[in-house]
Amino acid sequence: MATLRSVKGMNDILPPESSRWHRVERCFSSVTQSYGFQEVRTPLVEPTALFQRAIGDATDIVEKEMYSFVDKGDASLTLRPEATAACVRAYVQHNVQSREPVSKWSYAGPMFRRERPAKGRYRQFYQLGAEVYGDQGPYIDAELIEMATSVLRQLGIQDIEVQLNSLGSASTRHRYREALRDYLQPQAAKLSEDSQRRLERNPLRILDSKSPDDQAITAQGPKIHEFIDASDRAHFDSLCTLLSKLNVKVTLNQGLVRGLDYYTRTLFEIQGHNANLGAQSALCGGGRYDTLIPSLGGSECPAVGFAMGVERLLLSLPETPLPSNLDVFMVVIGEEWLGEGMQLMQMLRAQGFRVDADLRGQSLRSQMRRADKSGARFALLLGDDEVAKAQVQLRDLQNKDTQHVRRDELLVYLRQSVDSQA
Ligand code: AMP
Repeated sequence: MATLRSVKGMNDILPPESSRWHRVERCFSSVTQSYGFQEVRTPLVEPTALFQRAIGDATDIVEKEMYSFVDKGDASLTLRPEATAACVRAYVQHNVQSREPVSKWSYAGPMFRRERPAKGRYRQFYQLGAEVYGDQGPYIDAELIEMATSVLRQLGIQDIEVQLNSLGSASTRHRYREALRDYLQPQAAKLSEDSQRRLERNPLRILDSKSPDDQAITAQGPKIHEFIDASDRAHFDSLCTLLSKLNVKVTLNQGLVRGLDYYTRTLFEIQGHNANLGAQSALCGGGRYDTLIPSLGGSECPAVGFAMGVERLLLSLPETPLPSNLDVFMVVIGEEWLGEGMQLMQMLRAQGFRVDADLRGQSLRSQMRRADKSGARFALLLGDDEVAKAQVQLRDLQNKDTQHVRRDELLVYLRQSVDSQA
């Protein structure tokens, strides 16, 4: 029988790699909490129409990357390719707007896009994201961008570039789209095949093209900032000033449009420069989407958000040894003391220590080998002698010191040693 394998572009995350994931997730959660965000969890599956309406029919995601299926009840459903649309659906459905003027939501979880798999680009990938509803900015835009850079900094990811743009209002974008199309149409034959296809339906995406010929043509074309109106300009200028006050260095990139249709005004992307990232250098992307909530049935409500990809953060992390996941490895000499040993472990775990043991009744040597490999700070040995004297032998696995410790003093002793290491 052929061996079953995971779906292409969808990866297993095995221990101990999973502890690196926890580190990233914990960091994101503690930073976002320190900015007043609270977590939202939405289903992995949503009605297909949600993404068609929110992301836009002419985007790559909706045109060719969604995992859509018809369920037994004939509904067309889709594995979420991103979370903003789902968060907005939940925000509108539960009428959150009527209960609080501003909502700050964070989320974490898998997204699904049928892209061509490559290093840093997967078909199931994980995003950490944040959304703010009810604030038109620009102060909140600055706070959000600064928060994203703070997550990266706290993870130790240093070499980053924040690219910033403004797309203006929906009507600005509409006028710009027309102007860009008028400019590109006469030279359509010189554009790449992909860009020719995009010319009619979504010419803004041509600005994202990686083809040098396309880039040379768009470089000479009209720029979005020639089209944005005075209030969009004021919003953008204030944002730039605020970011500079907050010490966030930005690069203006008028070619930044990103793949989704719903953006208005602020748009940003954080690029990483770690060589491990290869071509997939976008660590984080986000922007303002002031028209999305009304377009999905809610009342007028400005919104802004971002998402960062966990796999790409992990590729960018500095090499650091994985922290140990254990404090104590229990070694029981003589199978008759296993029950006693388990009682001791139960007590230590109840006190917050992370404890493991080999419960298969192996030799002392083999148990010590596992203790050494486990990464625990201490081996705790229990045999005839120790039981008789109400003691344990505590071996420091770093410096190999061994001490006999009275059972009633064990907790205090361990607490001091483990805390001093933390
Ligand atoms: P987006 O939802 O396209 O704005 O992407 C936001 C972030 O998610 C990107 O900056 C990446 O870090 C990450 N990301 C997007 N697509 C993928 C993918 N297919 N595989 C891995 N990470 C991704």
